[in-house]
Amino acid sequence: MTIASYRRILLKLSGEALMGDGQYGIDPATVTRMAGEVKAAQDTGLEICLVIGGGNIFRGMAGAAQGMDRAQADYMGMLATVMNALAMQSALEQLGVPTRVQSAIEMDKVCEPVIRRRAQRHLEKGRVVIFAAGVGAPYFTTDSGAALRAAEMKCDALLKGTSVDGVYNADPKLDPNAVRYDTLSYDRVLQDNLKVMDASAVALCRDNSIPIVVFSIREQGNLARVLSGQGTATTVHQ
Ligand code: UDP
Repeated sequence: MTIASYRRILLKLSGEALMGDGQYGIDPATVTRMAGEVKAAQDTGLEICLVIGGGNIFRGMAGAAQGMDRAQADYMGMLATVMNALAMQSALEQLGVPTRVQSAIEMDKVCEPVIRRRAQRHLEKGRVVIFAAGVGAPYFTTDSGAALRAAEMKCDALLKGTSVDGVYNADPKLDPNAVRYDTLSYDRVLQDNLKVMDASAVALCRDNSIPIVVFSIREQGNLARVLSGQGTATTVHQ
């Protein structure tokens, strides 16, 4: 299956993608721009699931490093992802994109719980479904949440929007000779510990044959470009 023939995708954005030039939190103008990327992709007829991290607000590991109980800190991280999901929902709806947020930690005053069949219907009706709170358990990340939702929603691919345009053999910000891979196998990513997503997320994608497409979300219009098969990206598959 080529990128251009995908019908349903899961887009994973890190929480940092919502920070803009800031060091922390949510920059409304940046969230609006990200929402515009999602709208442009949806306008091509795609069904879109969205997972947003929480690292712009709180990461469990950072809390644990300061002496907090790890599980407790992870729950705080999961709550951060719900805030990001609500911010994105608001921005998408301002652009006229219908959305639903489904959280793995039930919060019935603010969003739906994760119900796969319901999410399925939302997608069929043209709504973007934003899955919040990762897998709903500590010691995981939103990468794993993204892989899990991509599998259960039968997405054709997991697109990971980052600050670089793919996966390199060295850090392209530090090494001018770094070379970008067009494609990689899941096993190579895991063996070489390449920074694509965390290992449990990569393994889940491998076991369910979900391609991972790593691309830059920084340039305007890039998500739609990549989805049309014209952008620059690294695709991880079998
Ligand atoms: N988290 C968790 N379980 C999950 C998803 C997230 O415990 O299933 C917590 C974890 O503490 C993590 C934080 O939520 O550090 C924010 O998620 P993540 O680090 O994946 O965000 P990103 O790096 O994508 O912004």
